[in-house]
Amino acid sequence: MISLSYNSESLEYDAYALLTSFYPGTETRQSASEEAPGVADGLHLNADAEGRVRLVFSAGESFPEDKEYLYTPEKDAEPGSHEWKWAVKCFIYDALADYSGRNLPWGGLTGVRPTKLILNSARERGLDEEELVAYMRRQYRVSEEKARLGYRIAMLEDSILTPFRQGGYSMYIGIPFCPSTCLYCSFLSYPITLHQKEVQSYLDCIEKELKASAEIMAKERLDTVYIGGGTPTALSAEELERLLGMVEKYLPMEQVKEFTVEAGRPDSLDAEKFRVMKAHGVDRISVNPQTFKEETLKLIGRRQTTQQLLEAYALARAEGFDNINMDLILGLPGETLSDVEETLRRVKELAPDSLTVHSLAIKRASKMRDWVAEHGAISGLDYERAMKTAQETAAALGMQPYYLYRQKNMAGALENTGFAREGKYGLYNIVIMEEVQSIYAIGAGTVSKKVFTDGSNRIERCDTHKDLSLYLSDIQAMIERKRRLFGNEE
Ligand code: SF4
Repeated sequence: MISLSYNSESLEYDAYALLTSFYPGTETRQSASEEAPGVADGLHLNADAEGRVRLVFSAGESFPEDKEYLYTPEKDAEPGSHEWKWAVKCFIYDALADYSGRNLPWGGLTGVRPTKLILNSARERGLDEEELVAYMRRQYRVSEEKARLGYRIAMLEDSILTPFRQGGYSMYIGIPFCPSTCLYCSFLSYPITLHQKEVQSYLDCIEKELKASAEIMAKERLDTVYIGGGTPTALSAEELERLLGMVEKYLPMEQVKEFTVEAGRPDSLDAEKFRVMKAHGVDRISVNPQTFKEETLKLIGRRQTTQQLLEAYALARAEGFDNINMDLILGLPGETLSDVEETLRRVKELAPDSLTVHSLAIKRASKMRDWVAEHGAISGLDYERAMKTAQETAAALGMQPYYLYRQKNMAGALENTGFAREGKYGLYNIVIMEEVQSIYAIGAGTVSKKVFTDGSNRIERCDTHKDLSLYLSDIQAMIERKRRLFGNEE
């Protein structure tokens, strides 16, 4: 447990985000306090009226020794201004790096979308790669390797995104049911066996939402459709048939550039479901091993076997799917570098069209948090080495990195990266990460975003109930909120 106290609300978020990046998985308790620095056990942040900031490490349960750092603002950094906040964030980063004796690959960048920031920085300042790398190192303390990776991805995305910048929208449909709940899951996921009786009512609501979206977005161009969750293929073949039939009935699918269904859990798949997806024009699927180590799969409550994964993958190929993604997670409980290498070796043999490599993130809403509290450290994995091996595997499969995002509490303070062969890039993934066009999202626990294309970069959001019974009972009100959000396109 680390205690963080502060006397300036405006610095709380950055201090917390940086502290948890340096000490991932450690419980952090925050409190506003004017208490004199040095008295309390933990980390105390104290800003004065002149913009000076003292950061005090007090020895005790949280830290082994006392140490103090002082920031004095430059003349042009007005206390409370944007520049001052950034300078203080760098100061906090430098202090934590000095105190802990290590640097983070992404430096002081704590946001989810580093490539969006890189792209905007490069565009606004007219920077080439070398200038951008130097800027990211100076301004955000990002390592050279990550700055180059970010730049490379940002440039590729920029070229892919051109047609998406001129209006249009993407559709997300959330199906919140799964065969079982994985230990690390923070998505909306109801075990389908316990909720079977609600499935038809849920699909009724999806139909109402689709019908309404067809009216609300009638004048807009639909670019991509993504059905995720949960696990959409946890539905029976008949239920999936109904869902995809509705999509075809209400959405202008003839314009769509990509139609993805997450078929993530091999234990939810069979030949009939692949036939249904193929018949309805699904052209991209994800079949996810996460790991090939059976022992880990059992431990994380992911009731699938490697045999099921191999069979599902073969069935998908036999059905003609030529754009198959696989998801992996680095840092699962007890996994070592050789476990990761073995998983990557199996992936290489199967040769999917794209590969998404996640670093385990311990989310507040997951059962993993309790597991860590009970069992302690998750894995002694060398994350940087594991990520490098994943990059090498992707390169050997002819893939290049095409999208990237970060989460809070990520193992190794790394990133999640999508790799793909040319022409197999997950378009929806890029669109949602770079926020270049509106996402109309339907289903429980989903968030719609209206991206204003009037040059203001404004984004407005509208979410739906996460609670299944609330979602089912309040569907009309949620549709009306979306009508208000999207109804008056600028
Ligand atoms: S399959 Fe995905 S959505 Fe379902 S429980 Fe596992 S991680 Fe969560």
